[in-house]
Amino acid sequence: MSKIEQTLSIIKPDAVERNLENEIKEIFKQNGFSILKEKKIQIEKSEAEKFYKVHETKPFYSDLCAYLSSGPIVAMVLEKENAVLANRNLMGSTNPKDAEDGSIRKKYGISIDKNSVHGSDSVENAKIEIDFFFKDHL
Ligand code: UDP
Ligand code: MG
Repeated sequence: MSKIEQTLSIIKPDAVERNLENEIKEIFKQNGFSILKEKKIQIEKSEAEKFYKVHETKPFYSDLCAYLSSGPIVAMVLEKENAVLANRNLMGSTNPKDAEDGSIRKKYGISIDKNSVHGSDSVENAKIEIDFFFKDHL
């Protein structure tokens, strides 16, 4: 069963810094995603800590939050059939070294931490993450 979903995508600081914003958006569009909303912002570390709260016990949590808040990012609401899984597949594995050929992380990712894009991992989390960026508290 396929159904139209929305998911949250973030173009992370390493990619914005390398001027890859338009190239990455083009990949989403070529793969059938509509970009319903987008916002280029820099967030505070405290906001990144909220966004990544699920990872708060992980050893990489503090560095991850410092990194996400280190420069401008582009948050987007993407829409397509089965958007959550389709975006995860298009992004590729967390570690660019393991990412599939043709995936965004394989093409642009620098390392497991600087891996160029974020994508929601479930429909439930997509709703929470879309609210986080687009419900006017950022
Ligand atoms: N991350 C990291 N070191 C690790 C694992 C993850 O720095 O060993 C970072 C990486 O930027 C990743 C983010 O933490 O994208 C969130 O991790 P998750 O396991 O949720 O990966 P994702 O869902 O982004 O593929
Ligand atoms: Mg994740």
